[in-house]
Amino acid sequence: MQPDPLVKPLLIHVDDIDTAAQPWEADLARADVDEMLTGDHPGEFKASGGAQVHAKLTKMGKKVLVQASFAVPLAGQCKRCLKDVTLAEPVEFTLTFVPAESHVDKRKPVVAADSPEKAEKQAEKHARRRRPDDDSPDGSFDAETADEEPYSGKTIDLWEALREEVLLAAPPSPLCREECKGLCPQCGQDLNERDCGHRVQNIDPRWEALKGIQLQSKQSSS
Ligand SMILES: [Zn+2]
Ligand SMILES: [Zn+2]
Repeated sequence: MQPDPLVKPLLIHVDDIDTAAQPWEADLARADVDEMLTGDHPGEFKASGGAQVHAKLTKMGKKVLVQASFAVPLAGQCKRCLKDVTLAEPVEFTLTFVPAESHVDKRKPVVAADSPEKAEKQAEKHARRRRPDDDSPDGSFDAETADEEPYSGKTIDLWEALREEVLLAAPPSPLCREECKGLCPQCGQDLNERDCGHRVQNIDPRWEALKGIQLQSKQSSS
């Protein structure tokens, strides 16, 4: 059905789930992880390898609970000392996938409405879509709605959800360690290894310029 080879291993077949917390695994190639990381705006990390996604699937009526926990191998360059940084970033999430139809049903017309006309239309739609045989009691799952993702048909595509979680898990920028001292901007010495002594005069030229201005204004006012 899906010709895209990247998406194929991330499909969960809802009919195949027959026990609670049924194990589900998927291998992400290094290229897959890279694609997830570069998504909307490329970060400073690249994948340093593939990842094996471990998840547990539980069917609750038509809903599917997905609990996943795995590590993503990342590589980058310390933004202070430029050394290579590798880390295995843990990714953990729990998501409830609901059939697309009932997902729409649960949205209260007021939430998305920004005009009275729109609200009216949505209320109409809402009323039409509501069926007496709907097994989920409408409106009683508000607290859970935030973590719900829609799926349609008999398969859940985990790709988008995984991509989001991987992006969330990756730190904003690589650091070899929290207290990395970086390089001396004057001589390039790695200040973690040795203090070159430049740091005292090591003032940002922009501050130097400001100092000059302050001195000048002081002189002219006195
Ligand atoms: Zn560093
Ligand atoms: Zn130096």
